[in-house]
Amino acid sequence: MAYANDQDTFLYALSSNNAWAGYKSHQNPEFFPKLASGQSPKILWLGCSDSRCPETTILGMQPGDVFVHRNIANIISPTDINTSAVIEFAVVYLKVRHVVLCGHSACGGAAAALSDSRVGGVLDTWLTPLKAVRNAHREELQAIRDDKARAIRIAELNVQQGIDVLMANATIQDAIEERGLDVHGVLFDIGTGRIRDLGFGTRKDGGRGGSPDEVVRGRHATLVFRGGNASMKVNR
Ligand SMILES: [Zn+2]
Repeated sequence: MAYANDQDTFLYALSSNNAWAGYKSHQNPEFFPKLASGQSPKILWLGCSDSRCPETTILGMQPGDVFVHRNIANIISPTDINTSAVIEFAVVYLKVRHVVLCGHSACGGAAAALSDSRVGGVLDTWLTPLKAVRNAHREELQAIRDDKARAIRIAELNVQQGIDVLMANATIQDAIEERGLDVHGVLFDIGTGRIRDLGFGTRKDGGRGGSPDEVVRGRHATLVFRGGNASMKVNR
């Protein structure tokens, strides 16, 4: 989107919010009062802070549908109290049905972790777990000639590593045992807008193998996990 100057961007954002709130209220007068009465999201989304990966938008869902934690390069560390608190609240108190860890193509964090040069400041410290993933798979990654493909591969490996951490989380383990919580590892392709199920987590086959479609009904859209793909359709 182009604006006359950067200062206008904030004013545009405020007026855009005003227009959006007006539109939503007009479309459904109960939308905001219902939203204000409480939340019961079915999905906990763990993703990258990248501006091109806004989870609720790319899922075609609405406010109230997705509980979210995003950080640079969607890194899941067992000692990160921020991520751990979000997981605990979502799983224990909100009782989400699905935990979705999403990596994405063209991730700046992944590109930085693939490089031997330093980013600077606290960022190198933050990216340490991703650098460890890079080091553990150095040969495989080096063999990939195409830069974009290599960045996608490390993003997949990062999701796999994050899923291992999630599956070792006691809160998540208890919820899987007690009420069949599902954990999914997926990758968002910015170039196509599609989400691909990587088949990590509680469904090792990525939803294949004759298992029925997994359907998550949001307030306004329905997410279907089928044969390794996640798709969305708008509710009627
Ligand atoms: Zn990213």
